[in-house]
Amino acid sequence: MSHVPNILPLAVIIPPLVLFLAYKGVSVCEEAVESASDSNGAEDQLLDELLASSVHDRSCLSRYRSAPYRRESPYKPSADLVKSLRRYEALHKSCGPQTEAFEKSMLLLKNPHGGPSRCKYLVWTPENGLGNRMLSLASTFLYALLSDRVLLIDRGKDLDSLFCEPFPGSSWLLPPDFPLKFRAVFNKTDPHRFGNILRSRSISDDVPQPAMVYAHLSHDYDDQDKRFYCEADQKLLHQVPWMVLRSDQYFVPALFLLPSFERRLHQLFPQKEVIFHHLGRYLFHPSNPVWDLIISYFEANLAGATETLGIQLRIYGSENPIIKLVTRQILNCTWGEKLLPLPVAHNSTGIPSQKTVSVLLTSLHSEFLGRLENVYRGFSLGISFHQPSHEERQQTGREAHDAKALAEIFLLSTADTLVTSAWSTFGYVAQGLGGLTPWILRGPVHAAVPQPACVRATSMEPCFHFPPNYDCAAGGFLETTTVLPYTTQCRDRISGLQMVDGGST
Ligand code: GDP
Repeated sequence: MSHVPNILPLAVIIPPLVLFLAYKGVSVCEEAVESASDSNGAEDQLLDELLASSVHDRSCLSRYRSAPYRRESPYKPSADLVKSLRRYEALHKSCGPQTEAFEKSMLLLKNPHGGPSRCKYLVWTPENGLGNRMLSLASTFLYALLSDRVLLIDRGKDLDSLFCEPFPGSSWLLPPDFPLKFRAVFNKTDPHRFGNILRSRSISDDVPQPAMVYAHLSHDYDDQDKRFYCEADQKLLHQVPWMVLRSDQYFVPALFLLPSFERRLHQLFPQKEVIFHHLGRYLFHPSNPVWDLIISYFEANLAGATETLGIQLRIYGSENPIIKLVTRQILNCTWGEKLLPLPVAHNSTGIPSQKTVSVLLTSLHSEFLGRLENVYRGFSLGISFHQPSHEERQQTGREAHDAKALAEIFLLSTADTLVTSAWSTFGYVAQGLGGLTPWILRGPVHAAVPQPACVRATSMEPCFHFPPNYDCAAGGFLETTTVLPYTTQCRDRISGLQMVDGGST
């Protein structure tokens, strides 16, 4: 009996370094791009009209070429969502940077009493890692859509190099000469912070509106900041022409708390479990250099397999006992849920298995790959393991690092099945883009392998880790799940909130 696997682990042939090299050189695999796009009908490329058809240039190859790399989504955007997106794109074009309206509105930041403004703006600022950023940016875009504001982003160190412009014929990047300095202001003590304004009672129907307000919706927001989600306070915010928003959360579920948005949200999203799936696939198109990373790795490592299993590993601490425990946990999960076969010589005929499975591992750490390969070494089961990079530590803001992170999120989203790590927004983005309800590795792991090793998520929606839990009528604590239909506790975080279909829970 042969002990040579019928598939050589391609990670051996094409080392993880390929991601970095590909990122430095352009057009690694243009032919693959062409063949993928050629085989795809025009309708598929527009993702059921989620995307406008008006962008035909090559400045963003991923926009119309992602579809063939992912499983076809059975989730169609509603006609209302499609209509709202087209309406939003027109608004963005008429109010965005380099328009007369934008220049006029900018003057308000210097002179708040400079007259009425036709357009209102929402400026998003980044916080935490890429997964957190993508979730909060998608939430902020939905808020912009609901509140008729134009979304602009503070690009931070590298966001402009990671993503294409999402809105045809316009830009979502704040111009470099924008008068507000984000590093210096918008901290907790900023007088523009909505919570602080409410505390000092300097906003009401009776006093002139400020030209700008800062909504602090990060994990450490306080009760006054949480009044953002109260109807009366939202009405005050509605008047203010410039809003700066910072969050590291997927705060979409909390927008359903606002009666003025609720009806429209139900029209836009009759299916509650696919909100990020649609928003993410609408907004996030990897830039051409990142797209090159993605397709070159995909074609070299994943394209040939019958199936791909994505395993996203986010561990806190890289000491040996944890690596060992998590490796055991991965095996317990994938064997227990029959996602991978047991490494036994099950085939007495000696004929190799027809099915091949590529296991795509993503992790900051290199140790898992070799350990898992060792488990299957010598068995003709058609299993191969691949890990695009191992960065060892988070380096958010370093362009090459973030490009790899985005490439891997995207690659995970092409898998047929996904295993993710508890609490990780990196995994949430991948599952949402891919339309996949993952198995979640329970954790974080400290001293023992959890039993069971993994649980199936309730839906593909990201978990809102820090819901407001605020009682708008009485002040103080009120658990958000008790007042919001279509939500449940997250499987990986009891205090978190997740959108689900099937009514109130
Ligand atoms: P979270 O902290 O798990 O919720 O995810 P975030 O994406 O917000 O922050 C973690 C950051 O660490 C990522 O954005 C990457 O910069 C880095 N990182 C974590 N896991 C991986 C991984 O598997 N691959 C790569 N390339 N980077 C990772």
